[in-house]
Amino acid sequence: MNHKEQLARQTLTEVMKKLYSRGLISIYGGNASLLLSDDNALLITPSGFNKENLREEDLVKVDFASGKVLGEGKPSSELKTHMSIYKANSAVHAVVHAHPPTLVGLCTSGFDFGVYTPEQALLVGKPMVIKFCMGEELAKQVSSLCLDSSTVVVKNHGVFAWGPTVIEAYAKIEILEEAAKMVVAGNAMGGFIVNSLSDEQVLGILKNYKPSH
Ligand SMILES: [Zn+2]
Repeated sequence: MNHKEQLARQTLTEVMKKLYSRGLISIYGGNASLLLSDDNALLITPSGFNKENLREEDLVKVDFASGKVLGEGKPSSELKTHMSIYKANSAVHAVVHAHPPTLVGLCTSGFDFGVYTPEQALLVGKPMVIKFCMGEELAKQVSSLCLDSSTVVVKNHGVFAWGPTVIEAYAKIEILEEAAKMVVAGNAMGGFIVNSLSDEQVLGILKNYKPSH
C-alpha cells in the first residue's frame, strides 16, 4: 500500500468517527468514500460496521471501472450512489453520507431550507431535497443533481455531500446541521421565525469573502 492510500484510509476513518461523535450518524449509520486517482479505484466504508471502532484496514477498496471489490470486505450498500456521483461529476473526489437529525427533520417536514449563515453561503449553498427512495432510484436521483448542487437531503433518511476532498464534503454536513439547529432554536422562541439570508445578502457574502481553502 502506498503512502497516499495510507493517508486516505486514515482521513476517511477519522471522518467517520467525527460523524459519530458529533451526533451526525448513529453507530451503524452513514458511509463515506474517496477516489484513489492513481489506482483508478475508490475507498469506501464497509457495510454495517460499528463506526466508533472503525479501523483503517476495514475500509474496502473498489475498482472504479467495474465496481468490483479489490481484496476483501463488503462495501457500503450505498456504493452505487457514490459511484454514480463520481461518474456524473468529475470534479468530485469524495462523498460523505450522514443522518444529521435536525436538518433531515426540517427538510422531511416540508420546511423550505434556505441559506442562513455566511459559511453556508460560501461553502454549501441551499441543499437540494428529494423524496425518500432507495437503491437504483436513489443513485439516479442524487447523481442527476450533482452538477447543480453539492448536497442532497433525502427525506426520512439523510444527506449526501460531496467535494474535492473528504474533509470538505464532511464540512458541508456540519455546516448544514449547524444552520438547521439555529433555525430550530430561533423558532422555539415562541413563534419567531428565523429568516434565511436574502439573495442580495448571499451575493454580498460571496463578493466579500472567499472560502478559506
Ligand atoms: Zn443512510
